[in-house]
Amino acid sequence: MLNPINRRSFLQIGAMAGAEALAPRWMRAQAASLPDRVVQGRAAALNAPITTTKLYDNVYLLLNGAGGNMALQTGPEGNILVDSSFTTAAPKIRAAIAAVSHDAPDALINTHWHYDHTDGNEGMHAAGFTIFAHRKTRERMSTQQSIPFFHLVMPAYPAGALPSITFDEAMHAWHNGDSLDLVHFDPAHTDTDIYIHFNNANVLHMGDTWFNGMYPFIDEATGGSIGGMINAESKALAVADNSTKIIPGHGPLGAKADLQKAHDMLSAIRDKVAAIKSAGASEQEAVAKKPTADFDSTWGKGFFNGDILTGIVYRTL
Ligand SMILES: [Zn+2]
Repeated sequence: MLNPINRRSFLQIGAMAGAEALAPRWMRAQAASLPDRVVQGRAAALNAPITTTKLYDNVYLLLNGAGGNMALQTGPEGNILVDSSFTTAAPKIRAAIAAVSHDAPDALINTHWHYDHTDGNEGMHAAGFTIFAHRKTRERMSTQQSIPFFHLVMPAYPAGALPSITFDEAMHAWHNGDSLDLVHFDPAHTDTDIYIHFNNANVLHMGDTWFNGMYPFIDEATGGSIGGMINAESKALAVADNSTKIIPGHGPLGAKADLQKAHDMLSAIRDKVAAIKSAGASEQEAVAKKPTADFDSTWGKGFFNGDILTGIVYRTL
């Protein structure tokens, strides 16, 4: 995972460039055609603070309410960042990194293709990070994508934002005294999802296969399904032990017991909706039966309420 070629100083980039200069040129040129949700996410990320939590000697959680949660590993072999949030968060991400590390940029790992985890890629690449991801993340970012659920059409990213090193099943790296497993999930939240496990630090980043404390979004347009989400969480539960610090794509840091609760909640809702659907109910009829009612007060106050989740579950069964 070393990137010795053409590495430019992160601090040097930081000194010369404000948010405007780091905003990718193609995005400024195409701003008019960018989906509203991306424009809104960038506006939110401009002001959202980054909260840094130390998880291990050299591993940190960078929590950014506007974009996906990030992880950072620091050390003399170079810094590893997991996910890049929105491009407008770059100055705050740089400041958060500089507050704990003077090591050089090395690798940026994307958990999946979604823009709230990859919009900052081009700026981070320009600052010296080599981008790693699942092969399908690169494929999807290379072409226009649609998420009809959000009425969203995402244009292809430019070359500088694309992962340059990809894998299909798994990849293993030894870096800054730790060993890392990057492992593909079968299609779950999307068909591009991976987890990253820092073995010695015992930190597991699950991307958006886990939304901690809220109903998840499942991107049915790019391969996601309720069954896939449940299987992905089962796979992560098998990797974790009781002291693993688990980073969800959204929501606060959690433990194995929290992930188990989310897994059990999704399984129960899947079973209820499956029974209703197999009895012949339409999607509308299934939603009207409120199969998530027992869970809404705990889980339905995040991005989605139970009716919306029921629709997603029904369609992806
Ligand atoms: Zn996502």
